[in-house]
Amino acid sequence: VKYNVIKAFENYLPTLNDFEIAHENVPTLGPGEFLVKAVYISVDPYMRSFAHRRKVPYEQFGFQVGKVVESQNSEYPENVNVVSHSGWREYTVLNGNPDDIFSLKPYQPQIGNLPLSLSLGALGMPGMTAYLGMVEICKPKKGEVVCVTSAAGAVGSIAGQIAKIKGATVIGFAGTDEKVQMLLEELNFDHAFNYKKEKDIMGTIRSTVEGIDCYFDNVGGELAMTILKCMNPEGRVAECGSISTYGKSLANKKPALPGSVKIQSFSFAQWDWSQQSAALQHIRHWIEKGAIKVKETVANGFEVLPDTFIAMLKGDNVGKSVVKV
Ligand code: NDP
Repeated sequence: VKYNVIKAFENYLPTLNDFEIAHENVPTLGPGEFLVKAVYISVDPYMRSFAHRRKVPYEQFGFQVGKVVESQNSEYPENVNVVSHSGWREYTVLNGNPDDIFSLKPYQPQIGNLPLSLSLGALGMPGMTAYLGMVEICKPKKGEVVCVTSAAGAVGSIAGQIAKIKGATVIGFAGTDEKVQMLLEELNFDHAFNYKKEKDIMGTIRSTVEGIDCYFDNVGGELAMTILKCMNPEGRVAECGSISTYGKSLANKKPALPGSVKIQSFSFAQWDWSQQSAALQHIRHWIEKGAIKVKETVANGFEVLPDTFIAMLKGDNVGKSVVKV
């Protein structure tokens, strides 16, 4: 069973009519192949922007973690857990070669005794994105001020906690009071605000901290433009994502910035697997010693994938949104 995206998302929010379930037979395995049964499937914001840019239907889309249930490949024997970019499908035949859009090999999750779902979140693509963007691009120093948007989400919640570990003062923006409370009370953020309720975001920032040294931008749009105006000289901006503009044609009017602020867009895929897996090892270590707390929103059932995807785009998730199938 798989989901077809039958229409590129022309409107800002996709609807359930944009998806259909399709059935196909599982082929017989050839030499070197193995069959993976999905256990958790990921829904991620980039799916929204890819769908818009490509304007074509496609079916192999999204990370999942599953169990090998049949194998002709000694590297991936039965019962091993595998993370792959196999899309929203229950069964997938893989062969261990780089065969997906990010050229990631199927790999065994680096979770130790932690829950398997983390291999799609804090110990998967979003986690490595948070680590690499924060540590390699923002490079926060002790005492500096770091701002994170979509701070209660999969990437933002980890990025903010990494900045705390590095000794920064962390200010987060999220879209509900519950998320703000969670950031302050559970994730150790120094300051957090509901960007939907704040009437004067620049005033709020200016009265809270003396400018921002690092901005980890997950949202783009007006909120990002306002935050950029508060950057200190020598500041660093990690342009991680722009969820507020996906599917919209917004002119990106950049504000005038103080001297030598460096803005760098990035993708986790620009680092190779050895750097990505090293990032995941750091995060795992921090989770195991309690320095990073992980939040997840887990939905149940293959059929709820589209609802869960749409709910995540609307901000219903706290931490990583995944579907247990
Ligand atoms: P999240 O778990 O953060 O979920 C998406 C969140 O976006 C929602 O919960 C919602 O939270 C917020 N949001 C939705 N619409 C808006 C809006 N108009 N303005 C502000 N916030 C909004 O998703 P991820 O952590 O997986 O991804 C976060 C960002 O990182 C995305 O932009 C994504 O594309 C990007 N990304 C980039 C990668 C890279 O390699 N560069 C890799 C992975 C992700 P709220 O309630 O706070 O509004």
